[in-house]
Amino acid sequence: MEKESLIALINVAQLLKEPIGSTQSCDISGMIDEEVEGSVEGKTKLIHTSQGILVRCELTAEVKLICSRCLDTFLVPISFTAEEEFLPASDVLGDSGLSSPEQSEEFTIDDKNILDLSELIRQYALLNLPMKPLCRPDCPGIN
Ligand SMILES: [Zn+2]
Repeated sequence: MEKESLIALINVAQLLKEPIGSTQSCDISGMIDEEVEGSVEGKTKLIHTSQGILVRCELTAEVKLICSRCLDTFLVPISFTAEEEFLPASDVLGDSGLSSPEQSEEFTIDDKNILDLSELIRQYALLNLPMKPLCRPDCPGIN
């Protein structure tokens, strides 16, 4: 069964109107196909903070990797937690054009109050890949 491409756009307009500390949950599932290929699913919790929205995702993914010994393609299950604070784009970019070095401009809430979690998920999936993937522990390598 073909899964849909990962669409991880979440409208937080309502959450931003609620008091700080309010939360919103949603489910995520879909395919990712840039740099790392595979399917992802899990839960996301959004928390309204004083500056923006703290996003916490608990995800499992099955990604396609190339065995470092035999160069075969195989699927690896990984599970990981991603956590980032999204700030309103207008605050991050500012009028001065200066932005704090720690705050990635990728993690912003756009002017329509939409969060895009796909970049966050892709980055954390990459971070959680095994360093030397093996299709099986006793892979004999290329024959
Ligand atoms: Zn192998």
